[in-house]
Amino acid sequence: MKYGNIIDNDKIIDEVLVSYFKAPKSYTTEDMCEINSHGGNVIMRKILEICLNNGAELAEPGEFTKRAFLNGRIDLSQAESVIDIINAKSEREAKEGIKQLEGFLAEAISRIKKEILEVITNIEVSIDYPEYDTPEVLEDELREKMELILKKLNELEKTFDNGKIIKEGIKTAIIGRPNAGKSSLLNAILKEDRAIVTEFEGTTRDTIEEFVNINGIPLKLIDTAGIRDTKNEVERIGIEKSRKMAKDADLVILIIDGSKELSLDDKEILNIVNRSRTIVILNKMDLEQKINENTEVIKDFDNIIKISALKKEGINDLYNKITDLFNLNDISIDNDIVITNERHKVLIRKAKEDLISARNGLDNNMPIDIVAIGLKDVLSDLGEITGEEASEEIINEIFARFCLGK
Ligand code: GDP
Repeated sequence: MKYGNIIDNDKIIDEVLVSYFKAPKSYTTEDMCEINSHGGNVIMRKILEICLNNGAELAEPGEFTKRAFLNGRIDLSQAESVIDIINAKSEREAKEGIKQLEGFLAEAISRIKKEILEVITNIEVSIDYPEYDTPEVLEDELREKMELILKKLNELEKTFDNGKIIKEGIKTAIIGRPNAGKSSLLNAILKEDRAIVTEFEGTTRDTIEEFVNINGIPLKLIDTAGIRDTKNEVERIGIEKSRKMAKDADLVILIIDGSKELSLDDKEILNIVNRSRTIVILNKMDLEQKINENTEVIKDFDNIIKISALKKEGINDLYNKITDLFNLNDISIDNDIVITNERHKVLIRKAKEDLISARNGLDNNMPIDIVAIGLKDVLSDLGEITGEEASEEIINEIFARFCLGK
């Protein structure tokens, strides 16, 4: 670190310290220097202007981190963690970012990739030297290894649910046709003593995101404003809106008026939701019931709860069901790796799908070299996470999210 002055036209602009990083021991692995000035807008701008006039170029957003990645000092998942650290809203989130920056995810991915490579190698050896193993032995071995890898991918993918819950809460949509009891349930939940409600401005201007903490489970209620504020029956949540909300949600609470026969609207909504992510509520159990858990369509659902939103009965059963479904006890804070990045999750899921279809190929007596091709797809899915297989477009898109000069 050198002490000196920045001089322009023989005039001292500022008294500064300059640190010099010799390649490859710098953030980007290139020769680098940093100027520590007294700061302040005027002087900083002046120094920048002098640098630019003397041949420096202004960095693009994320350019430093991008160079670190392109020069191979960090992988793509580590580069992405830099954004997460900068944007972290909680200490916990920042901690996850730091872990990723240290390369935990990259290591886990590279271990899995190595195992897949071994399987591919086995296949290739068996093609080149067919006398080496009998096909049955080889296939059993391959199947076993693929199951093991699938298990690891599953475990990784599962951590994303936890990561996301920690980060954002369970995105919950309360849907159902008009008069089913949505706003009554909402009121019952919000008035609960244990429900700690926080209101945030939603991402779109006229939506309100409400966080409700139930039994330690953070629920982020989607678009509750639409449920409460609209007095006009026609404007209440319709099928299209329900479809959209259900699609965006981690958890759908679908309310049906149990005192009425199922309407066409009910049936349509029942058909559009994802069953594994839905809790069907038969509301108005204080009235005579026209439907129950054995009614056609409803009986296909695993999670059915009867409540009376009006009398606030059965609400606890709903809470217990949510606790069961998301099994938050499984979230261990110091778990090695928690996937927090949506892009990584999508790729892990894709790797899983490609692996499953390779395994199915094996089960269906597909030629073994075709199975190997399927496994190479899995490798390239995983390579997209760490960056060696990511397209330039994706890389550019990722770094465009950075702030200037990072
Ligand atoms: P939304 O249109 O789905 O939001 O339905 P509301 O919550 O506004 O409820 C519609 C009507 O059904 C209101 O008159 C509520 O008082 C009534 N209601 C809601 N839940 C129950 C319940 O559990 N039992 C009875 N008897 N009536 C209910």
